[in-house]
Amino acid sequence: MQDVPLLVSRILEHGRTTHGRSEVTTWTGDAEPQRRSFAEIGARAAQLANALHDDLGVTRGSVLGTLMWNNAEHLEAYLAVPSMGAVLHTLNLRLPAEQLGWIVNHAADRVIIVDGSVLPLLVPLLPGLTTVKHLVVSGPGDRSVLDGCAARVHDYEELLEGRPRRYAWPETDERQAAVLCYTSGTTGHPKGVAYSHRSIYLHSMQINTVESFGMSASDTLLPVVPMFHANAWGTPHAAFMAGASMLMPDRFLQPAPLAEMIERERPTVAAAVPTVWQGLLAELETAPREVSGLRDVYIGGAACPPSLMQAFEERHGIRVVHAWGMTETSPLGSVAHPPGGLSEEDAWPYRISQGRFPASVEFRLTSADGEPVPWDGETPGELEVRGPWIAGAYYGGADGEPFRPEDKFTEDGWLKTGDVGTISPDCYLTLTDRAKDVIKSGGEWISSVELENHLMGHPEVAEAAVVAVPDEKWGERPLATVVLTEGATVGYEGLRAFLAERVARWQLPEHWALVPAVPKTSVGKFDKKVIRKQYADGELD
Ligand code: ADP
Repeated sequence: MQDVPLLVSRILEHGRTTHGRSEVTTWTGDAEPQRRSFAEIGARAAQLANALHDDLGVTRGSVLGTLMWNNAEHLEAYLAVPSMGAVLHTLNLRLPAEQLGWIVNHAADRVIIVDGSVLPLLVPLLPGLTTVKHLVVSGPGDRSVLDGCAARVHDYEELLEGRPRRYAWPETDERQAAVLCYTSGTTGHPKGVAYSHRSIYLHSMQINTVESFGMSASDTLLPVVPMFHANAWGTPHAAFMAGASMLMPDRFLQPAPLAEMIERERPTVAAAVPTVWQGLLAELETAPREVSGLRDVYIGGAACPPSLMQAFEERHGIRVVHAWGMTETSPLGSVAHPPGGLSEEDAWPYRISQGRFPASVEFRLTSADGEPVPWDGETPGELEVRGPWIAGAYYGGADGEPFRPEDKFTEDGWLKTGDVGTISPDCYLTLTDRAKDVIKSGGEWISSVELENHLMGHPEVAEAAVVAVPDEKWGERPLATVVLTEGATVGYEGLRAFLAERVARWQLPEHWALVPAVPKTSVGKFDKKVIRKQYADGELD
């Protein structure tokens, strides 16, 4: 067979030509959103590449940061930068400033493309950025805040104007880095994962199979998951490949504008972490909208409470599909489609699991003492994975070597996920917890996720996060922090009684706190280390 490299430029050219009429719609907050065809996006990507090459000196291997929301311009950079042989580095604009600055320097970003709306975030970092020579500003936002800065400042649209609408994309090595993304760094410095052209290409093909997201040219995708978080789960590349139109929410990620854009633009597929969907569900209760055009909502990034799945299906006719992944796995991962031929009732336990892996991802469970764990659906172990779009090492930085920390990689090169769970004889993964979140009480393990899922099944509970707190007698015991719905009357006693019908008595939390909101990480997940600290500081008594 012909040895043809699997390149992002191939995805770009295919989308631009074969699916030229598909559209990218970006929400602007104005009466009309911005609309651009795939043909136009492809041509503008070429204009961007020409400008970057001719005026900004970007060559093969240069690293370019993006500090952007999900919008058409970010997609243009997604396609142009890797296709010209450079590396696109997506910056998480919700990270604390000092981490963000550290990441830019570590990756040695030469250029940053930034949405005007997030300039106030970037400006204070600029004096500490040692490698950035150019800033390209896109969209609305006051540019004068950049007056006097050392880097050269360009306007995105002016840079593109009049440039050739074609670019001779080089035939690079498919194993070369295409995109760089840093994990949120819960301990120590953030760690960089470099996705190759090959891994992005194969991952996109997988996403478009029906055993994953099954997108086609008849779909419109709403990626709520940010493009700075594991490539928005790889969905923009996959959608461009499949010809699925995209509805980009830009910075309008609050429940009310999300509900409005879903009603008006009628996306068929959407992806986000559970907290986003919890918010949308509550919004739809108070301000009903017609959202049933959504066929499939993919939820992952954290365990999806079964009550949330039920509520979307029963109240809005939307099917929720649960998926698992992490930055290091591109991020897919497993998807919880049930086996064929089952009744709704029999399919349910499969649907609330974390799902099955595709052929390209090998998986195994390992016990605490390093032994293989049987796939009996009962014996827990740490999940380890291997495959062509799974990280084999972390990025060592501009001058450093790739590195493989012992707690992240096995001696035989598998990725240790830090997630604990079981695998059934028919290969469905059920995660009980993150290894670091499980509550170790008197030699027994209590799953924080199980307690949260039950609590969030209570009609008066909007959100619940459970963490381990130190206990003299048992080592650790559960603390439940709960956000009640408006007008709720239930108290601790009621919630405890509700839980007592569902879990063993020794698992019942004795520490409770009603809170106005659960703290969230930069990617919208419950931030358990903040909750543990709040407890240690006596803020939750
Ligand atoms: P971060 O560590 O910043 O949250 P990731 O987005 O890479 O970065 O998080 C990956 C982790 O999220 C997984 O290791 C797992 O603990 C959790 N996760 C992802 N999807 C699910 C899911 N469907 N169910 C339970 N946990 C999940």
